[in-house]
Amino acid sequence: MNREADLVLHRARLLTVAPLGDERPRSGPAAGDVGAIADGWVAARDGAIVATGHGLAWQRLELVPRSTVEDVAGRVVMPGLVDPHTHLCYAGERWDEFTARRSGSDYLAILERGGGIHATVRATREATDDDLVAAISERIARAAASGTTTIEVKSGYGLEPEEELRHLRLIARARASAAIDVSPTYLAAHALPPRANGDRRAFLRSAQAALATVAAEHLAEAVDAFVEKGVFETEEVAPLMHEAASVGLARTLHADQLNDTGGAAFAARVEARSADHVSRASAEGLRALEHAGIVAVLLPGSALFVGYPPPDARRFVAHRVPVAIGTDHNPGTSPLEGMPTAIGLAVTMCGLTPHEAIVAATINAAHALGRGARTGAIVEGRRADLVVLDTDDERELAYRLGAPLVRAVFANGRAVSPAS
Ligand SMILES: [Zn+2]
Repeated sequence: MNREADLVLHRARLLTVAPLGDERPRSGPAAGDVGAIADGWVAARDGAIVATGHGLAWQRLELVPRSTVEDVAGRVVMPGLVDPHTHLCYAGERWDEFTARRSGSDYLAILERGGGIHATVRATREATDDDLVAAISERIARAAASGTTTIEVKSGYGLEPEEELRHLRLIARARASAAIDVSPTYLAAHALPPRANGDRRAFLRSAQAALATVAAEHLAEAVDAFVEKGVFETEEVAPLMHEAASVGLARTLHADQLNDTGGAAFAARVEARSADHVSRASAEGLRALEHAGIVAVLLPGSALFVGYPPPDARRFVAHRVPVAIGTDHNPGTSPLEGMPTAIGLAVTMCGLTPHEAIVAATINAAHALGRGARTGAIVEGRRADLVVLDTDDERELAYRLGAPLVRAVFANGRAVSPAS
């Protein structure tokens, strides 16, 4: 071996999560294969992984000046975590609603009273550009400190297309200075804005018209819609999704979260890259996802905070639907932080095994963001997105909920500052 490296982590329990012969997301019996190597090492140069192995073979690498070489003493080294679903672009917190829910109000009732999402919409609209950029950047930095090296950030609290475009431009500003990879999404149909005066078709047409600007300015990689009883129906958002495809934007959906509205099958029909929540997806919906190879993004945080039954991950694994998990970080229904927490909840609430949850939070989540060949696995040629855990058994990540097990994070080969 005669390769140059500027970063080497050795004497690791290395979880490669390497592809199993193809570049598809993991599903079914392979859903929990983390590709562990005992006494393993990984080497990177200029942000890309250049080699992996075990034992002392890393010593034959040519180390460039000022390299980082670390003996991790048997600790776990795994791919950086990928959070495929967040709503980080918001101002204002919702303690009042959180408290009201504890005394029994349900989400759709709060929404009808003008609370819920509308409270966040008002606060975010009133926030200045600089304040909003600072808030988004702060949340991205906190995610990075907890091991996330790729994060999706949705707009969606602007509701009206002009305000949505402002949010997307501010997400772009935060993205430009972020230490980790940010994948922006235009959540074009989240709720009907009050100023639409109930005219759903006119509102959806205006959201559809904004797609040309989103594509021209590269403001988003994907378009999302909240398909739910009382919010938007599949057929209503079909033209939006078709237009997204025609301008080169990926599709993703909030689908079958509280009710089965055929959202999973619809996601397959519009060739979405992921179908998210899917707690209530029917068997037919699961078959459609499996057939189309669409990743189901499970979001246990909102089930926990809102109090509805969490998705049963065993159904997805049995149907060979690839599963990813995310935080769904948002101020109303899932204020949790950090992928380690999401991993813990996905195991305790949804029934994934710890290893399936690690796959769901790395390679499968990378596929959900169209990055399945770029990150999410410790394989030569991929981005050097790495996490060192303060344990020699990765199952502890799922087991010790809330424990600060992330010891070090490298994004694109560079150390991310620890949480302050
Ligand atoms: Zn969401």
